[in-house]
Amino acid sequence: MSEMHQFLFDGLPVRGQLVRLTESWQEILHRRAENAETGAYPLSVQVLLGEMTAAATLMQALLKFDGDLVLQIFGNGPLKLAVVEVKSDLSLRSTAKTIGAVEPGATLTQMVNVNNQGKCAITLDPKSRFPGQQPYQGVVPLFDDLGQPIDRISEVLEHYMLQSEQLDTKLILAANDKVAAGLLVQRMPVQGEGNLSAKSTQADEDQIGVNEDFKRIAMLASTLSPEELLSLEPDAILHRLFWDEPLMRYEPLKGSNAPRFVCSCSKERVSQMILGLGQEEAESILSEMPNIEVGCEFCGRQYVFDAIDAAQIFTPPVVKPQVLPPEHLH
Ligand SMILES: [Zn+2]
Repeated sequence: MSEMHQFLFDGLPVRGQLVRLTESWQEILHRRAENAETGAYPLSVQVLLGEMTAAATLMQALLKFDGDLVLQIFGNGPLKLAVVEVKSDLSLRSTAKTIGAVEPGATLTQMVNVNNQGKCAITLDPKSRFPGQQPYQGVVPLFDDLGQPIDRISEVLEHYMLQSEQLDTKLILAANDKVAAGLLVQRMPVQGEGNLSAKSTQADEDQIGVNEDFKRIAMLASTLSPEELLSLEPDAILHRLFWDEPLMRYEPLKGSNAPRFVCSCSKERVSQMILGLGQEEAESILSEMPNIEVGCEFCGRQYVFDAIDAAQIFTPPVVKPQVLPPEHLH
């Protein structure tokens, strides 16, 4: 079963999370494999999307953002787009679009960052926006400060956390066809709530990368191999890495609170999209084929609109006379 573990190091300015997605990740892969149009993901795309799905889930659990966290990678190369969306209740969905063959063993650079044009975007879209409010978006390139391409998505995201949040972060990610998993440890914001460390208020420790406790814990985390992350149970991983550290664990998110696959697509949303196309465009499609068919990229569901359905989309709703309940009649 998928699960999320959150923990602190007692008295130290360091927190961590471990996520293990199993049936939710398998569901995403299964739906893709069932899609006759696309077929299963090439192996390299599967690994990248799994790692991104684990990472986005970790980031949402960390931020507890009341809305959608969307992690995207796009650029040039055979992988056009990879996208993961995680809601505040940790329901999630992800998909990738390829245009052309992805070679076995293709790296992140070969897939999406040819000519260093690749980008990683993190969007926070609030559940309820006030009028005119735009979602917050941070974009980072897929290369380091020296212009060298970064070949691991974990490093891209560590870079992002450092640039946008000024937070040292160590991220270990791994995915195969059964499990997508991630371990994150982060130096806690000095002024942040929930910071239990008295030490970290000292000015000299308020510098990025100089906290000895964080450095030691990040070093321990980095000894975790992808194979261990994928095959060991969370309890075994945390014990193996941090047995000698003052680990304080929260109640794990399991069962109905666990991260899980949910697709938020609906006939209404697809209708809105067709409405956006305009009547002329919709009629032009229907002059060439019997139905307008729209497939959801995330879950593979097919939405079919025939000419009558389409006409209804463009017919303004009839305003029904309101019947008041008896207590409102005078
Ligand atoms: Zn869907």
